[in-house]
Amino acid sequence: MTRTAPGAPRVTVRVPAKVNVQLAVGGRRPDGFHDLANVFLAVGLHDEVTAAPADTLTLTCTGPDADQVPLDDTNLAARAARALATHHGLDAHVHLHIAKDIPVAGGMAGGSADAAAALLACATLWGTDTSHAELLSLCAELGSDVPFSLVGGAALGRGRGELLEPLPVGGTFHWVFAVADGGLSTPAVYKECDRLRDATGRGATTADIPDPEPSPALLDALRTGDATALAASMSNDLQPAAVSLRPSLSATLAAGTEAGALAALVSGSGPTTAFLVADAEDAERVAAALRASGTCRTARTTVGPETGATVISNG
Ligand code: ATP
Repeated sequence: MTRTAPGAPRVTVRVPAKVNVQLAVGGRRPDGFHDLANVFLAVGLHDEVTAAPADTLTLTCTGPDADQVPLDDTNLAARAARALATHHGLDAHVHLHIAKDIPVAGGMAGGSADAAAALLACATLWGTDTSHAELLSLCAELGSDVPFSLVGGAALGRGRGELLEPLPVGGTFHWVFAVADGGLSTPAVYKECDRLRDATGRGATTADIPDPEPSPALLDALRTGDATALAASMSNDLQPAAVSLRPSLSATLAAGTEAGALAALVSGSGPTTAFLVADAEDAERVAAALRASGTCRTARTTVGPETGATVISNG
C-alpha cells in the first residue's frame, strides 16, 4: 500500500445517503433501461472520503460493511478519481480512504455517494478548478444517482434519474432506517420488477406502462414540510420486486408500522427499509421496536434533508 507522509495535504469530504420518497418506474426501454420519476431526499447517514497524495491510485475502506466494498478499479470512488484525472489530463495519483457508514448495496446510493465525494475531494486536492457544471456532468457519466449525491437536499430526477431539478423543502423530516443483512443487486431488482409486470399479462415495456410522473401531492408535502402528507403520498414502484426477492422485508415493514411509523417503504432497490416518523422521540421508539423485532440487523435514526457532498477538512 502507498503510504502518505505525515503532514502531507489531505482533503476529506462528507457525503449523505439518500432515500427515494417517490420512485416511479416507467416501462422497459428498448435499451433495457427504465425512465424514472425519482424524488430523492438526502438523509443523515454519511460516508467520508479522504484524498491524499500517493504514487499511484490506491484505496482503503473502514466501517461495519467494509469487507463488502470492492477495493479494485470497479470501486465507484476510484472510477471517479480516474474520470476527473482524465478530464484534466492528469495522472490519478491519489490515495482514497472511505470511512463507510452507509449500508452497502442497501438502496441508499452508498457507492454513488463515494463517487461524488471522491470527485470533490480530488478536485480540491489537485486544485483542478473544475466548475460545478463539469462536476455534475462527470457525476452523470459515473451513474444515475451520483449527481444527486453531489447536490443533496431534495431533487426530482428524470430520465434514468440523472436529470436533476432541485426541490424546495419546508421542514425537517424524521426517519428510521432498518438495515438488513446482505444487499440486493439493483439490476436484479429492476429485472424482477419487469418479470412481475410481465406476469400480470399487461406487459412491462414503455408501450405498456404509463410514463412515470412525480406526484403533485408529494411535491406539495415536501414544500410545506408536512410529514403526515408526505407519508400519505410516498411510493416506490420497486418495492414489490424487492419484497419478492427478499420476502422477509414484509415483516420489517410491518414491525415499523405497528410501532407507530407514519409510513414505511423500501428504500430504492432495498433491502434497507425506511420509516417516516413524526418527531425525534417517535424515531427512537420505532427504532427500538425494530431492533427488538428481530426482523433487521439494526435500526438507525436520522433526519433529512441533508446537504450534499461537502469538504469538511482541507490541509
Ligand atoms: P443504489 O441505491 O444507487 O442502487 P446501493 O446503495 O443499493 O445503490 P451500493 O452501496 O452503491 O448500492 O453498492 C452496490 C454495489 O456497488 C456493491 O455491491 C459493490 O460491489 C459496488 N461498489 C462499488 N463501489 C462502491 C463503494 N464505493 N461503496 C459501496 N459499494 C461499491
